[in-house]
Amino acid sequence: MTVPDFDIGPHLERHKKKGPPKYPPLSEVLKIVPKIHGHVCTASYLGARMALLAVKHLDLKRKKDLAAAVEILTCAADGIASATTCSFGSGRLVFLDHGKFSCIFCNWMTGKAVRVSLVPEIDKEHIEFGTRLRDFYVKLKERSMEEAEAAREELDTHERGLIEKWHKMSDDDLFIIKEVEVNPEDLKYPLDQQYIPEPVKCANCGELTEKLKTLKINGDRLCKPCAGEFKLREI
Ligand SMILES: [Zn+2]
Ligand SMILES: [Zn+2]
Repeated sequence: MTVPDFDIGPHLERHKKKGPPKYPPLSEVLKIVPKIHGHVCTASYLGARMALLAVKHLDLKRKKDLAAAVEILTCAADGIASATTCSFGSGRLVFLDHGKFSCIFCNWMTGKAVRVSLVPEIDKEHIEFGTRLRDFYVKLKERSMEEAEAAREELDTHERGLIEKWHKMSDDDLFIIKEVEVNPEDLKYPLDQQYIPEPVKCANCGELTEKLKTLKINGDRLCKPCAGEFKLREI
């Protein structure tokens, strides 16, 4: 077995820059998006712009004071992460299952928050594209390779056209931004979901598991997979 053969030190430097945080311009964010998302698509593009618009309004002193809560599970989350460093792993990107293409951004230190949503016309054309994309995946199995490739190409043209059109539009033409009152605690994952403050051994697999996440079955504490709540089997 080999181990990594480079110096880890430089990668562990913490950023201690003074002054308000600098967010990269859109041109730079769009280079980051494919690194974490694989490509720039409609939703990641819109997410990146929503985030860059929101941070202008929040008087942030540090990047880590920003939380983002997406109100739908789409590629927008990765556009937002690319622009802001709010990520699932940092606990600062939260999923609110509201089924709306919107995002709430909040400065934890001050409680100031804004909600960014799409202008109805933009929302409509984005949903129309999303519906075509969903149909493409639904019908994928029935199609020949050639048919699938032709359909995909049509979709790519549609998507490219939308992004190029939006790229010529101002934030005012694309987004509605409103200051909102929200409980900042609702915009971060509770600490007990990020750490294991009260470890117990699962009676079946023996792995240390946060007690709150275990189930008591016939007097035994079991982790969720061992309790059958999640199908997972070693092979
Ligand atoms: Zn995407
Ligand atoms: Zn277990």
